[in-house]
Amino acid sequence: MFLAHLLRQAGVEAVVLEMRSRDYVEGRVRAGVLEQHTVRLMHRLGIGDRVAREGLVHAGTTLCVDGEPFHVNFSDLTDGGAVTVYGQSEVMKDLNVAADRRGIEVIYEAADVTPHNLDSHAPVVTWKTRGEPQRLECDFVVGCDGYHGVCRASIPADHVKTFERIYPFGWLGILADVPPCNHELIYANHPHGFALASMRSPTRSRCYLQCSLGDRVEEWSDQRFWDEFTVRIGAQYSARVTRGPSFEKSIAPLRSFVCTTMRWGRLFLAGDAAHIVPPTGAKGLNLAVADVVVLGDALAAWYGAGDDRGLETYARRALDRIWKAERFSWWLTNLTHRFPDMDVFDRHMQIAEFAYLRESRAAQTSFAENYVGLPLDF
Ligand SMILES: Cc1cc2nc3c(=O)[nH]c(=O)nc-3n(C[C@H](O)[C@H](O)[C@H](O)COP(=O)(O)OP(=O)(O)OC[C@H]3O[C@@H](n4cnc5c(N)ncnc54)[C@H](O)[C@@H]3O)c2cc1C
Repeated sequence: MFLAHLLRQAGVEAVVLEMRSRDYVEGRVRAGVLEQHTVRLMHRLGIGDRVAREGLVHAGTTLCVDGEPFHVNFSDLTDGGAVTVYGQSEVMKDLNVAADRRGIEVIYEAADVTPHNLDSHAPVVTWKTRGEPQRLECDFVVGCDGYHGVCRASIPADHVKTFERIYPFGWLGILADVPPCNHELIYANHPHGFALASMRSPTRSRCYLQCSLGDRVEEWSDQRFWDEFTVRIGAQYSARVTRGPSFEKSIAPLRSFVCTTMRWGRLFLAGDAAHIVPPTGAKGLNLAVADVVVLGDALAAWYGAGDDRGLETYARRALDRIWKAERFSWWLTNLTHRFPDMDVFDRHMQIAEFAYLRESRAAQTSFAENYVGLPLDF
């Protein structure tokens, strides 16, 4: 949807095909921490009013090791940098309302979406609407269809290069209408495992626990979740935890994944279709947005002046940022989680890394500049 708006601004016609319904897309609970570039782009696209009003600007975060918290001030370390807490579902609503206003064509509940002739100059996409076959001829297909989508799978297998790391745990996440235990996020590394205190608003908490991959949601009653969360988050914050019934509870596995084949003929991949990060660094949504900023410019140059240099270099330029975000998310995951096969040496490495981060302004600056988002030109 970000790309559709960027192309509309550049005067390029695009059609969005979405297999789900609009209600489903707008209700899907996912990311919630926006880099400053993502917010800046929302303003540039004219959809920034609500995030400016309702988004919670966080100028720092707290890291907590074995119950001992310390604060990292993004704003001091990055010349005013910050992130904004604003749910992905709210971003989707803002994009969709503006798409209605601008007449951007979004076809929901498009079934059996299939790209064809991608290695020609005249790709075609077919799909079904309420069982009726549909067909669209186009110049390009952009696969913004997530990890399980159809676009990456359309590239011949012997041309696809991928890299992957699977982590030996998952995240159990809940949403509850209770005030958060802190005004900013808390990342906690505790002997029982990782915990994250996050939020969606001053009255809605989003909290996570590291869990086993074999755990099932039904095994985690709200009481069990809150009992464990208050232990892991540390004594200073546990007294401030307000318990309440969850209205969303899910377990997500963690993986790092990069498909470096981001172009195949007239197909370009962007976002989760090409890469997955563990959610620890809150990079997934932001990285998808960064991809389409690069691709939007490249497509605008192709349509505007017949300049294909941007398209030729898209994968290289996008991957430069992708690998850095992969590194940051992998590093923060390694720092904050308890791995089942950790030995005493590994634990000492974590403790030393935390101590360095606590004491060194240089280390905190590196953390802060990655967290608020590396520079993105647009
Ligand atoms: C459960 C969960 C929790 C997450 N939590 C966080 C978080 O806390 N922080 C964070 O930064 N990131 C988080 N993420 C990641 C973040 O949501 C994604 O990185 C981001 O949505 C990527 O955007 P995208 O446009 O590439 O893919 P998506 O947002 O997945 O969009 C792809 C769209 O394509 C549609 N689609 C898929 N296949 C087809 C098809 N065959 N035909 C037509 N349409 C199709 C899908 O319905 C979907 O709407 C989470 C992801 C999940 C799944």
